[in-house]
Amino acid sequence: MKIINIKTIIIGLPFENPGPDSSFAIADKNLLKTLLIKIETDKGIIGWGESFGYTSIAATETTLHSMVIPHLIGKEINSIEDIHKINKELQLKLHVFGRYGITIFALSGIDIALWDIIGKIEKKSIAELLGGLKVESLKAYASLFLYDDPKATADVSSKAVNDGYKIIKLHENKIPPILSSREAIGNLPLMVDVNCVWSEEDIKKIITPLKESNLYWLEEPLWPPENYKGLSKLRDEGFTIASGENSCTAHQFAEMISNNASDILQPSVTKVGGISEIIKINKLKLKNSRIVPHSPYFGPGFMATLQIIGSLTPESEIERLYVDLKADLYNGASNIDSKGNISIPIGHGLGMEPNIEIIEKYSIK
Ligand SMILES: [Mg+2]
Repeated sequence: MKIINIKTIIIGLPFENPGPDSSFAIADKNLLKTLLIKIETDKGIIGWGESFGYTSIAATETTLHSMVIPHLIGKEINSIEDIHKINKELQLKLHVFGRYGITIFALSGIDIALWDIIGKIEKKSIAELLGGLKVESLKAYASLFLYDDPKATADVSSKAVNDGYKIIKLHENKIPPILSSREAIGNLPLMVDVNCVWSEEDIKKIITPLKESNLYWLEEPLWPPENYKGLSKLRDEGFTIASGENSCTAHQFAEMISNNASDILQPSVTKVGGISEIIKINKLKLKNSRIVPHSPYFGPGFMATLQIIGSLTPESEIERLYVDLKADLYNGASNIDSKGNISIPIGHGLGMEPNIEIIEKYSIK
């Protein structure tokens, strides 16, 4: 069948942050913005995708309309081989404009929508296309906003545990909130995501309390994220290092792996180049590391992550941004059950269709 139309739709999902105001740069006026991609075919099958959002949406949307979509109208899409062919053509065509970043975010959303289409053509979930689900649900971790306040961080950590989460991730970069959260949640697994703000010198000054906080993993501790040698040294110090949400394509992951930069590889399906690139990353010789995708979003990217983990890396935890969604594109699919797990939907393609009424009601333009 042929691709006949591709639309981009921006939605703003209202949410409540369970703690005080946060300087975390992803939310806008209590709206979680999501960039949806809707690919229509001449046989009536529709595929949904998501490119990484928040404040990059306007740039990614422009990239899609000016550089990507015109190339795709009229293309045949009948098989997984067609997805690989389209990805190769697009990456080759666009590499001169900057290989990574916004360009690959745009292609990631297209790739997810194409996999959704192939699942629907073959009447299989994406997990089935990838070899079948190995588990029915995934261990979820609550991914908290940055509060930069020991009491607030402890309170929100406790709230997440009371809600049923058994694993907590902070986005803090000072020791007091890390220690207060550790005290609040006892021995449960605790991760800290530094979002790259420390230098190697900064870490030397805090290494003792950082080690005492007994982290399940330490995420993106160093600036710049490509400081693979620095990350490798921290692994040698005994930290479990997580990184990769800012890396694009399997090539950058191969470089991370060859530099021993990470225990936990975190490709983000809406940023890395889509499902197709995560499949390639999963085929790399991972040495002593494992894949735990990045997924702090609630659109088709989250649904694709459930399908990927469930079929390819079933031991991986799934990241669930710890906010209270007031409108949900997938009717509660990202909510945890009583064991702190998230179920994997088994419908065709992404497992579930987005709620069209929600899209219409919360569409931003
Ligand atoms: Mg992160």
